[in-house]
Amino acid sequence: MAKKTVKKHQKGSYTTRRTAARAVRAGAAAASKAKKPAEQYVFFFGHGKADGNRAMRDILGGKGAGLAEMTNAGLPVPPGFTISTAACNLFYEQGRKLPAAVEQEMEKSLRKLEAVAGATLGSTEHPLLVSVRSGAKFSMPGMMDTILNLGLNDETVEGLKKLTGNGRFAFDSYRRFIQMFGNVVLEIPKQEFEGAFEAVKRAKGARLDTDLDEQDLRDVVGRYKKVVWHKTRRNFPQDPHDQLRGARDAVFRSWNNPRAKEYRRIYDIPDHIGTAVNVQMMVFGNRGDRCATGVGFTRNPATGAKEFYGEFLINAQGEDVVAGIRTPMPITELETVMPKAYRELRAFTTRLERHYKDIQDFEFTIQDEKLYMLQTRSGKRTGYAAVVIATDLVAEKLITPREALLLVDPTSLSQLLAPVFDPKEWKALPTVAKGLPASPGAASGQVVFTAEDAVAWTEQGKKVVLVRKETVPDDIHGMFVSQGVLTATGGMTSHAAVVGRQMGKPAIVGASALHVDEEHHRLAIDGKIVKEGDFLSFDGLSGEVKIAKVATKPSEILQVLNGTMKPEESGIFRRFNRLLEWADKLRRLGIRANADMPDQAELAYAFGARGIGLCRTEHMFFADDRLPIVRRMILADNEADRRTAVLELLPLQRGDFYGVFKGMHGCPVTIRTIDPPLHEFLPRREDLMVEIAKLEASGGDANELAEKRALLGRVEQLHEFNPMLGHRGVRLGITYPEITEMQTRAIIEAACQLKKEGLKVVPEIMIPLVGHVKELRDQKAIVERVAAETMKAQGVTIQYLVGTMIEVPRGALTADEIAGEAQFFSFGTNDLTQMTFGFSRDDIGKFLRVYQEKKILDADPFASIDVVGVGKLVAMACELGRKTRPTLKLGVCGEHGGDPASIHFFHQVGLDYVSCSPYRVPVARLAAAQAALSVKVGD
Ligand code: ADP
Ligand code: MG
Ligand code: MG
Repeated sequence: MAKKTVKKHQKGSYTTRRTAARAVRAGAAAASKAKKPAEQYVFFFGHGKADGNRAMRDILGGKGAGLAEMTNAGLPVPPGFTISTAACNLFYEQGRKLPAAVEQEMEKSLRKLEAVAGATLGSTEHPLLVSVRSGAKFSMPGMMDTILNLGLNDETVEGLKKLTGNGRFAFDSYRRFIQMFGNVVLEIPKQEFEGAFEAVKRAKGARLDTDLDEQDLRDVVGRYKKVVWHKTRRNFPQDPHDQLRGARDAVFRSWNNPRAKEYRRIYDIPDHIGTAVNVQMMVFGNRGDRCATGVGFTRNPATGAKEFYGEFLINAQGEDVVAGIRTPMPITELETVMPKAYRELRAFTTRLERHYKDIQDFEFTIQDEKLYMLQTRSGKRTGYAAVVIATDLVAEKLITPREALLLVDPTSLSQLLAPVFDPKEWKALPTVAKGLPASPGAASGQVVFTAEDAVAWTEQGKKVVLVRKETVPDDIHGMFVSQGVLTATGGMTSHAAVVGRQMGKPAIVGASALHVDEEHHRLAIDGKIVKEGDFLSFDGLSGEVKIAKVATKPSEILQVLNGTMKPEESGIFRRFNRLLEWADKLRRLGIRANADMPDQAELAYAFGARGIGLCRTEHMFFADDRLPIVRRMILADNEADRRTAVLELLPLQRGDFYGVFKGMHGCPVTIRTIDPPLHEFLPRREDLMVEIAKLEASGGDANELAEKRALLGRVEQLHEFNPMLGHRGVRLGITYPEITEMQTRAIIEAACQLKKEGLKVVPEIMIPLVGHVKELRDQKAIVERVAAETMKAQGVTIQYLVGTMIEVPRGALTADEIAGEAQFFSFGTNDLTQMTFGFSRDDIGKFLRVYQEKKILDADPFASIDVVGVGKLVAMACELGRKTRPTLKLGVCGEHGGDPASIHFFHQVGLDYVSCSPYRVPVARLAAAQAALSVKVGD
């Protein structure tokens, strides 16, 4: 019957990216095996009608699905076709080649496109030019490749000139094509082309690329062709059909370039879902001053404010806007230069937002004042913006609260809890530069200039701020570890801005006052030089940069929660709260926190936890005033001495428990009896040996020496080859029953005292590491005896539960027996993962990366639960346990309790609650609601 639960789970509507992707691939594989009808691999769109639609992101990728949907909605989209992600998988399966059948399907679609476009690939009279665009199910900004103006060669370029009467345009397009094709398909480094381009600009004295005329651009084309010959010993390919196949295959290949792989690793996007390729008729934003290209958002993606937002460039093409080469203009200025196109853009994008019921991120091109839509998708946004937008859309009656919950990625809520600067201290410092506020948050750290340094310095425990002229997609690993990212060029939609927002990293872009000298690792601002390692701080919400190390302070939400700010003063707090209250109404899972101290309990309660799932009593043993007592307890060589020391701990523990109960305002609190191996409370053996050697050499104090030697003797006695599988958990309670007795007494006395004060608490006493029912029986007998004695002595009766952690595989396997004794189970998924895989959680770092690279593991099983293996044990234990005891309470207290994907699983198997660290509580509340709605956000 355990099997049934697991199966149900796999079939259920619970879909992670991974399972969804698996389904896609399984579907594709099944279809490719089936005889008839043959699977469609190429999907046409154009003239108001598309083969695909928005629901087909698995097959068409996000971009392809968006183009199809916009086409069907009658928006002006240049016609084209999408080659599916399934074709990408075939491409890889067949040794980087497409099967002939797919080639033929593409040829057919191309002929259809030529008919619709009234132009032919390779024709000199009416040359068809196309873009070849990558696009996976999940957008991966800038990670894969796109090629524009394909179809140009030495003859068609003259045809294009004749057709348009615009030689400058024709050769500008050709040079762009050679550059992109040369880089992406022929794998010639970009700098080779940039060098040639700069040489012509210099010779001409041109500042911008728009200052070059036809003749200059012919010169550029000539030089580019030489670069190609030089690097490949071949002429630039002149056959447009060869060009098309080459570009298409290169886009498929770009799915596996290192930066795309790194991106997928960070964002947990599966490797096998593949990318689609979109082949689309070109429209031109670079045909003169009545042409433009741009990108935008229907709302501000950094703050969530309802404002039309974006950037454009006149007489430019494609990547120019995001590449940071020319500084683009704010989109509102389009209204002045091309009012009709602007009005249309507003109307179309508003429609798209209403249609998709979410903020849209769009790309467009204007050719001779005619607007074309080239892309739309749900906009990436900061956690801050996500909350603002979700609550606004409800207020605007565009969506219901239920839908709003699905617009926020739970993990992004953590960004709202990130620290900010103290406004007074911040204001007092001079601002040396101001840039575009691309991603909110306070960043302070030592300046580094390369992604590699960012990683290396962080590994040394330093906090760094990554400063770049502009970031490139390859910088992603450095951005990931930095406190924040600061660039000198680029707009709000540049790579640094987009990726920063998505990561929730503070980012400022386009701080043009910064003169970044990447080569010498320094920068000049405002007449001052900042060297590598100097401190720099910036505020990603205001865009201000200061040369200083600035302390940060709690976020607004935290300030409201700890009472230093009133809820009325914080709009973001009120929205955050509203959203989470909607979540609370929908979720079935209870949310508890792992907290050991009264103040943590208070914070967790303020974050919305209604209970403590794990209070680790031994954390209280490490305090300065307690460690000596704990050590005395450990060093005692007879029971009498040990009892004396243990009794000294009693009042201290009682005080702790009293505080924790109070901090939880009467909600249930699960207290775990002592768990770690005792040596953790003693000094390290090596350290002691060094100290003793020193004392011996210097003829030090004899008493001290004797004490240290005794300690060393005990440390050596306690030494274990495998401490995690050693004398710990319930095994300690069984060998030293006086510890369990003392802890029980402290818990019950604290609860009795609170009852006298009028607060009813129901302590849950939890025995760790139980693998055999008799272990639990032994400890339970002690707990019950001491509890009865204590209540009698106090003259008070309270209710309490005794339960166990399920964290040893044998415990899960015999859960039916154990439930005979236990009133609750709490899954300790850290240990359970450790013991099920046999991976030491402290050593997995040595090989995890290789496991992931070799696709043996998708994710770190300590971060996100291994549903298939560890999850099977959890599901089985739930079912076995409840069979014996239908009222058995079930929870989880491992790290997985705060991980959204794991929370979906825990919901599915029917746990009563999850418990996580206080700061993850908001994340868990939202994820639990999404689990109840059976939707995983982030897809
Ligand atoms: P990315 O996924 O990196 O955004 P895209 O495939 O969207 O790459 O292409 C980038 C840009 O190239 C687009 O925003 C658009 O400006 C330009 N572009 C792509 N296809 C066309 C086209 N058919 N006509 C005009 N411009 C295009
Ligand atoms: Mg795009
Ligand atoms: Mg454990």
